[in-house]
Amino acid sequence: MFRFIHLLIDDFVNLLFPTLCLGCKQSLIANERVLCSACRINLPETNQHQEPYDQNLLNKFAGKVPVRFLASYLHFTKGGVVQNLIHSFKYRGQKEAAKELASWYGSQLKIESKQLQEIDVILGVPLHLSRYKQRGYNQADWIAQGLAEALNMPMVIDVLNRNAFNESQTHKNRLERWENVNKVFSIVKPDLVKNKNVLIVDDVLTTGATIEACAIELVRAGCKSISVITLAVADR
Ligand SMILES: [Zn+2]
Repeated sequence: MFRFIHLLIDDFVNLLFPTLCLGCKQSLIANERVLCSACRINLPETNQHQEPYDQNLLNKFAGKVPVRFLASYLHFTKGGVVQNLIHSFKYRGQKEAAKELASWYGSQLKIESKQLQEIDVILGVPLHLSRYKQRGYNQADWIAQGLAEALNMPMVIDVLNRNAFNESQTHKNRLERWENVNKVFSIVKPDLVKNKNVLIVDDVLTTGATIEACAIELVRAGCKSISVITLAVADR
């Protein structure tokens, strides 16, 4: 009977977590989650949280938004393990894995980054409603949840609304792209962020335009400060 229950629990865990490494597709063994030990040890960690005022990173925001803390967990490289991970989180339903990875980073941040102690609320960059319905979840919320639990901080949802798609912008320049994205978010529940130190969470930081647009709306709603954490950063 005990063995039967044990197997049931095993099956349940397998439903939540993949049985193959999301990095290299090898079978995971006992106690390995999301990644095999080799992929996990070789994760390209940025260690940016130890120097969260890295000028190259803050330049992405070009002085438009006062950002207090900005750090990404991993370097995103095309064809690498991190791309496989992000792809799994976005397109293959691996939301629990996204949360797990975020909790790994959260555990590091808790020990190594004192600045985050002043955060009042955590929120994930929202998806447009139709994209949310299509995917069934918002991976940024799952990443935010993993960080929130590891850091023991409250998470808020439905603060911002994403009004329109902002994809297919590859032919636009940075300013046009920024202006386009800037109109995409609107505040729904300003009371949840007013006078609060807010941590915005997303999967990948590329141009920073999406997070910037979120931040602008939060500043308009009267938040006290903005911090940003992403699981990966596309280095330029
Ligand atoms: Zn692996």
